[in-house]
Parts: sequence; C-alpha cells; structure tokens
Amino acid sequence: MPTIWDGVWTDWSFEELAFEIFSLYIDPSEIPSRDLKNIVNKSYSTFRAPDVTPLVTLDQEKQLYLLELFHGPTFAFKDVALQLLGNLFEYFLVRKNGEKPESERDHLTVIGATSGDTGSAAIYGLRSKKDVDIMIMFPEGKVSPVQEAQMTSVLDRNVHNVAVDGSFDDCQDFVKELFGDPDIKRTHQLAAVNSINWARILAQISYFAFSLGRLLRDGKINASSKVCFVVPTGNFGDILAGYFAKRMGFRIEKLVVATNENDILDRFWKTGYYEKKPIHGPHANGGFAEDGVKAHEDGVRETPSPAMDILVSSNFERLLWFLAFEVYGRCLNTVEEKRAEAGQRVKGWLDQLKSKGGFGVEPKLLEAAKISFESERVSNKQTIAMIKQQYSAQTPAAKEGTSSGTTGSTTRGKYILDPHSAIGVEAALRSIQRAPPPGTTHVALATAHPAKFSKAVEEALGSEKGFQFRSLLPEQFIGLEELEKRKYYFKKSEGIEGLRKFIREQVPSR
Ligand SMILES: *Cc1c(COP(=O)(O)O)cnc(C)c1O
Repeated sequence: MPTIWDGVWTDWSFEELAFEIFSLYIDPSEIPSRDLKNIVNKSYSTFRAPDVTPLVTLDQEKQLYLLELFHGPTFAFKDVALQLLGNLFEYFLVRKNGEKPESERDHLTVIGATSGDTGSAAIYGLRSKKDVDIMIMFPEGKVSPVQEAQMTSVLDRNVHNVAVDGSFDDCQDFVKELFGDPDIKRTHQLAAVNSINWARILAQISYFAFSLGRLLRDGKINASSKVCFVVPTGNFGDILAGYFAKRMGFRIEKLVVATNENDILDRFWKTGYYEKKPIHGPHANGGFAEDGVKAHEDGVRETPSPAMDILVSSNFERLLWFLAFEVYGRCLNTVEEKRAEAGQRVKGWLDQLKSKGGFGVEPKLLEAAKISFESERVSNKQTIAMIKQQYSAQTPAAKEGTSSGTTGSTTRGKYILDPHSAIGVEAALRSIQRAPPPGTTHVALATAHPAKFSKAVEEALGSEKGFQFRSLLPEQFIGLEELEKRKYYFKKSEGIEGLRKFIREQVPSR
C-alpha cells in the first residue's frame, strides 16, 4: 500500500485519501481498518458529486480555484464532518450493544441548538441510525425557511425537532442546562456534536489534502508551487483543519481567514487583540454598530452569511495553544514542560476573555500567527457585490461543466456564489494582489449552495436580466416546503421541567 508521502496519493479518490488520513489518527485497535474503510465509504456515498468535494476553476489567469464542499445531503460543508460523525456514533454503539435485547441496549441522545446549518447537517448525519436519537432546538421563526424545512421534513423516529419561542441563545441555554441536569443524567446519556468535536476537525482535513492532490495530478501546480487556502470562517473549525493539514506536511503556503462583519478573528490578526467588543483596530467602535447594520444585544451583527455570525470562535484557543507551545516553549527542554507552558498561557488568555471581554498577545506571538495565516474582513456590502461581480464574469468552471455535481453554477457560464463562499472569493482576490500568479495559486472554499441563502442571492442578482432564483434550486429543494413536517413547539415558560418531560416521553432512555 503506498502512503501519502510517496507521491502516489494524488491519484487517490476522496474516500481513499480520507481513509489514509483518518488511519493516521485512529488506531486499528480502536477501529479495525476494514471497519474504518466501510465507515468512510458509507459516509461519502451520500454525496452527489463523484469527487465528493470537487475542485472547479474560477479564474484561470488568476490561478483561482473553488473547492465545492456543498454536495452533501444538506448542501453545506458541515455534511463532510457530520456524515462521518453519525456513522462513528452508530458504529461504537452497535458494537457495544451487540445482540442485546432492546431493553438492555445503551442508548445515546445527541442534543444541540442551532440557528441554521449545524442542526440540519447533524440531523442528516444521525437520521435512522441505530441506538441513537437526536434532538435539535431552534428559535421558532428565526431559522431560514429552507433550513427549517430541511430539519422538520426528516420524519425518522429518532429525530426530534424542538421549536422554541425565543432566541438562539435561549436554545443554547436550555442545551447547556440539560447537560448539567442531574435528573436527565439518570435516564439519558447525552452527547454533543458542536464544532469543537475532534472527529469533525479530522474529517475536514481530508479535503485540503484532496484538492492539493487534484491540482498536482492535473498539472495545475507542481511539487514546489505555493498554494493558499482561503476559508470563510466562523468557529475556526474548518480553517483549523487546514492548519493541521499543513502541519502534517501537505504543502500549504498560507491559510487566509475570511470573516464577515463579525470580525473578532480579523481584528486579532490586524492588532494582536482578541476582543468581543472592538476597542483596538480599524473597525473599533466599542462594539456598537453605528453604520446601520443591526446588532444583537451581545454585539453579534446581522450579516448575509449567518453561519459565520459569531462573537468568539470556539476553536481558536486550539491554534493559540500551538502558537504558545512554539513561542514560549522554545527555551524549555522537555515536551511536558512546553505543553504545561502552552496550557498556562492559553488559560491566562481565556480567563481574561471571560473576565474582561478580551486579551492581547505579545508581538512575538502575533508574528508566529502570521507565519501560517493572513486575514481579511468582508463587509455585508462587499459580500453582495461579490455575488454580483462573479455572476457577471464568464467562469471557466461553469463553461467547462467540469464538475458534474456542480449545481452552484448555471449552464450559461455564470457562477453563482452563496454569501459565505462570496466572502472567501473576495478575500482570495485581495490575497492574490499580495501574492499574484504564477508564483502562487489560491483555493477558496465554497461552503454552501446558493439556493440555501435566497435572500442574499436575490438581493445581489434580483435585478440581473434573465436571472431567476427558481432555476437555481436543486431538485431536492423543490417542493421541500410542502412536504410533511414534524416539530414540537416548546414554550420557554415551560422551563427545564417541561423539557425533561418531553425528553422522557419522546426519547428512549439509556
Ligand atoms: C459553519 C459554516 C461556516 C464556518 O465554518 P467554521 O468551521 O465555523 O469556521 C462557513 N460557511 C458555512 C456555510 C457554514 O455552515
């Protein structure tokens, strides 16, 4: 069997490469190779594109490629991780339970709160799986109609959608309370699928490697080419996977953090300060939106790219740990000492984040962060403008029809970006100005299908001659809203007791 390191890997299929990468982190004593292979194949058989995550040419001259990550069941990139995670949960439970009768089987209940994409991807990852139920809470009326329909039209018995008459934060508070609830602990074994889940990060390493392999195989780059990946970023899970791919040895020159107006990460790279309310940096205004953009009480701004609307990024502390290890571990001798030092530093920063709402790092740490990363902030206006601009350009990706799974492009040479992907492309174009071709090649990640975000796409393209949103809809979306639905309405005022009662009645116990 050839390995990733001997150059043969560039011909491998997505599944083959993913299996090899996962095998480096999952010991065969944990999951035998044959089983892992089956899990990988099963997870990606639900994707519509033969390449799973196809790479398309967006601009030949600029050497700009788009890595389409939205060919999974819910049309957004979270499927890549959550299809795998669902199968892993089922594998471990079924193996543990063996042939036990129903009453003696271990049962897992996955719970989560969502404002959109995570919920549907988790539901599609776990629907109909054995020995596991999933309960997703979402704020009634605040999730886009497509996203809600995607969740509530899943009628499998192990799926429970709970609509709450409150905000996303209310949902999240209930989920947190459930995790700490001693009563529920006695009857149900709870699990989370949030974005700090390591298996999710691991799954996402695969497509950074795969797209490099395709560029090499097709002669678009050679072994010494510089490749930058541009990642629309929210919780820093996707781009952290890219960082791990780089540290594994895949040749990645830079990772470009692309944020929307919720720009805590961009401000960090510009100033060295990581602050909930912007005090330092070019967009400092003390946390108040003074430019007409709506902001929530906590300071989260409303943007056309809701999957990236975050106040703090939950995976960012992991990068900080690696940077602290490198910078402050330099003068220490043993790995144990370096780890302890890195842990202490990160703890100090996070304590300040909690108590003071932010922290700053020393210049040498920021310098280390800039070795592998760049950052860009893309405003709401620029996001919409980018969708329009790309639509007006003739795109080889759309003309060639090279990616048969591509439903993001129309057949007339026009590529339609979703607002999240548009942020990536805008950031990529800025990065290309700093590091132009032929020296550097850019790959922007396309994280969602445009049909999921009709409001932004209509706003950008509604006035274009010949544009019809309906023609953009994949067949899976047509009639989605008329399908039979199931959801449980939950009143905030019913409190945790009401929720406990619902779970006891609807969800099998452990
Ligand atoms: C979740 C999500 C992102 C952000 O990914 P992170 O891993 O949280 O940085 C970007 N785009 C879309 C469409 C998403 O669903």
